[in-house]
Amino acid sequence: MAGLAGVGLLWRSSTTSLVPLTSTKPSRGGRRVSIAVRNAISVEGKSYTLQKSEEIFNAAKLTDERFSFSVKELMPGGVNSPVRAFKSVGGQPIVFDSVKGSHMWDVDGNEYIDYVGSWGPAIIGHADEKVNAALIEALKKGTSFGAPCVLENVLAEMVISAVPSIEMVRFVNSGTEACMGVLRLARAFTGRPKIIKFEGCYHGHADPYLVKAGSGVATLGLPDSPGVPKGATVDTLTSPYNDLETIKSLFDTHKGEIAAVILEPVVGNAGFITPKPDFLNGLREITKQDGALLIFDEVMTGFRLAYGGAQEYFGITPDLTTLGKVIGGGLPVGAYGGRKDIMQMVAPAGPMYQAGTLSGNPLAMTAGIHTLRRLMEPGSYDYLEKISSDLVNGILDAGKRAGHEMCGGSIRGMFGFFFTEGPVYNFQDAKMSDTAKFARFYRGMLEEGVYLAPSQFEAGFTSLAHTSKDIDETVEAAERVFRRI
Ligand code: PMP
Repeated sequence: MAGLAGVGLLWRSSTTSLVPLTSTKPSRGGRRVSIAVRNAISVEGKSYTLQKSEEIFNAAKLTDERFSFSVKELMPGGVNSPVRAFKSVGGQPIVFDSVKGSHMWDVDGNEYIDYVGSWGPAIIGHADEKVNAALIEALKKGTSFGAPCVLENVLAEMVISAVPSIEMVRFVNSGTEACMGVLRLARAFTGRPKIIKFEGCYHGHADPYLVKAGSGVATLGLPDSPGVPKGATVDTLTSPYNDLETIKSLFDTHKGEIAAVILEPVVGNAGFITPKPDFLNGLREITKQDGALLIFDEVMTGFRLAYGGAQEYFGITPDLTTLGKVIGGGLPVGAYGGRKDIMQMVAPAGPMYQAGTLSGNPLAMTAGIHTLRRLMEPGSYDYLEKISSDLVNGILDAGKRAGHEMCGGSIRGMFGFFFTEGPVYNFQDAKMSDTAKFARFYRGMLEEGVYLAPSQFEAGFTSLAHTSKDIDETVEAAERVFRRI
């Protein structure tokens, strides 16, 4: 397979824009590539580079005066979200120029098969024609009204009819916001202060959740973040994932004090971890008995494991649900929703305050609506199931054949694998993974033109745009990489 088949993009360094003057689509023609030092790549004797990526990220040498600063002087770590910085896999992040379908192109013109999907939203493939066309139409009418628009009703109806627990919904701008809102709501409704979250689960970066959190916190091995006052986390209780005994004892110790249990019904932020058969059901029963609420954080799993999310897939209905990623189709949208009696507490229907300047804006609603419409088409989730299981089985078989201890799995559009024999039931188990080997594998796959999440502790995502050819090429690439790591 091709991998980083470079094309010489010629850049016009103007004061107004960085525009490719000529761009030949890179071919993916069965060529091996190898990365030499400092991102110089040679393919069959030809030399290709990540030079522009490096220039932009590192110490931009482009003649455009806007790029005369090191990116690291402009933004902390050179990025706007930590895991992007490649810290745990080494090397520099790739700077991207465009995305389409299941593929991405960097600023040097190198092409990659993408299994990050913008961390989840790109479930129907990047830059889908219908979504784009609808966005262009919506754009003509303006980007934000700061007032009700009919598109909010359309997306709200779609979400309510899809997700079993959601009878009423509030749109926000990110998963973090959704998880912040839902926590305040759970506390307001129950009149109780405490929450239980699971080690390695990530619910955005709000203070009360930065306790044993997953995602970037886990990837970078950070302790609980400085700046989070003790007062913000004293009511956050934690438990290992898949451990009902700990949950029972927390409920015994804190009778009548626990507002909610919040979890990722399938974990993606500590790597891909599935619930044991009785785990979700057990949580449902324990919370019901105690009068606490059960919250599924479906920011990642919503519309990804099934049209109705993990709750439809597993047949367990929580009281409240958070959504994000897919429902914005690549624009910033989050949501929380659930039982009507609980949601009626949210202002202005009720006293629990939560608001947002750009919430429900017409562009974001449009991208969400058209993404969900595509997902509603028959066969979408069967396709995701097949593509993901072919991918992960192919990778695991190849890894094991090459003598590596590995485990992993997939459900519909979500997958993951660890460099440990497993089984992995919780974050402690996940941490047994050989992360140094993952980093070598990661760099190797990048050289082969496969863009995976740059962390052992993040799930991967497939899309309706991934083809069997993509999967075959990825597995062949993995076979080559496994032999040399
Ligand atoms: N919850 C879960 C389960 C997530 O995966 C994420 C983001 N990865 C969030 C919440 C936070 O969402 P956002 O990054 O949109 O704030």
